[in-house]
Amino acid sequence: MQPDPSPFGLRGFLIDAPDYGSLRSHRDGAIIIANGKIVEVGAYEDLRKRQRPVSVRWLEREKVVIFPGLIDCHTHLPQYSAVARGESQLLPWLRENIFPVERDFTGPRAREEAPLFFRELARNGTTTAMIYAAIYEESCEAGFEAAEASGLRVILGKMMMDLGSYGQLQPKKILSVSLIESERLCRKWHGAAEGRLEYAFSPRFAVTCSEKMMRSAAELAQRFGAYLQTHLAENREEIEKVHHLHMSARDYTDVYEKCGLLTPKTMLGHCLHLNAREIDAIAAAQSSIAHCPTSNLFLGSGLLKLDELLQAGIAIGLGSDVAAGPELNMWQVMRAALDVQKARSMSEPNLPRLRPSEAFHLATSGGARALGKSAAIGSFEAGKEADVIVIDLTAVLPYGKQNRHLDDLSAEDILALCIYRGGPYATLETYVRGKCVYCAPNSISSP
Ligand SMILES: [Zn+2]
Repeated sequence: MQPDPSPFGLRGFLIDAPDYGSLRSHRDGAIIIANGKIVEVGAYEDLRKRQRPVSVRWLEREKVVIFPGLIDCHTHLPQYSAVARGESQLLPWLRENIFPVERDFTGPRAREEAPLFFRELARNGTTTAMIYAAIYEESCEAGFEAAEASGLRVILGKMMMDLGSYGQLQPKKILSVSLIESERLCRKWHGAAEGRLEYAFSPRFAVTCSEKMMRSAAELAQRFGAYLQTHLAENREEIEKVHHLHMSARDYTDVYEKCGLLTPKTMLGHCLHLNAREIDAIAAAQSSIAHCPTSNLFLGSGLLKLDELLQAGIAIGLGSDVAAGPELNMWQVMRAALDVQKARSMSEPNLPRLRPSEAFHLATSGGARALGKSAAIGSFEAGKEADVIVIDLTAVLPYGKQNRHLDDLSAEDILALCIYRGGPYATLETYVRGKCVYCAPNSISSP
């Protein structure tokens, strides 16, 4: 999929959050995109008047907001069909509701569902996603093929587990087959589509992975410069299990440290129940955390101590964690992130409130930093890759098109409306590297 080489301009209310705690905006702003990159950003009137050697094709409409593409740092491709299912906690929920669905995610089913999944991501305004496939090589292969065709920026890996797995292989063979298949997928897909697709070695978590598997995954990731992703300290019963499996470890994080899994390219899902030592260890290793609040509320796993992790300097992104999270909609994930901190503040009155601008930072610039991609995506700067979404403001405003008070709204007001009322129905277009990868039926443009 080649980016559109001719420059085009998007006009609208520009909002981004390059720094935690503040928004940057242009009420009547514009962004000019050429060769997949942002080449100019600013006030529409200034950009319109500027002389250029080539003419700009303008896409102008009223009442639209332009944001950087949303970044989902943690989700599961084969689980989407099982959202909102089961009302138990993590371990029984995995056994009863998730492993059966992942076990079936192979053959025609994987090939049929994978393109739909990426279509849903694009429709939700997600431009970058870090994803787990099922344990089968072909499920990951189907995922990469669909990701390539979707035009999205995707980091994906085959789920690795050799303890209590749902596969049909003899226990003795599981480890070697998983390593061989993971390496083969990484060789084929890491850096494919001009770097738009990348590989993540994906040991599920310490409950379902032997030390040998975790060590080998870490070695492979280092050898290929690939990502690592796993789950950490999501649920009390899980932590208890890990403690019994690894009696000599200081704590759960220590199990991963000893296996070499904590690296600057590691994304740790959840991290709800960490002690101070674990937080320091993650910060020292420069590993990142995917905060998955919709999932944590659905499974009743816990409330993230976001302030402690941020204070430690850990890079944090947000994750939909479908199917424990019920939606791929990152606006809902931002809303849940706010709700989680509000819930904490009911018993910890001195806790600073999380603001919409901060949740939005985590879903854009914060996610980019957590993935080591700050130089390329996450905010609007000339030279960055043009991962951009255009939102129909009338879809989130009370009274929609009849609303006469749009001019009274600040950037903070508009962002809060998107977070509390946003969803796929409000997405007009989704661009990755300047290429339109989703265009709503009511959008005026399909460049
Ligand atoms: Zn997960």
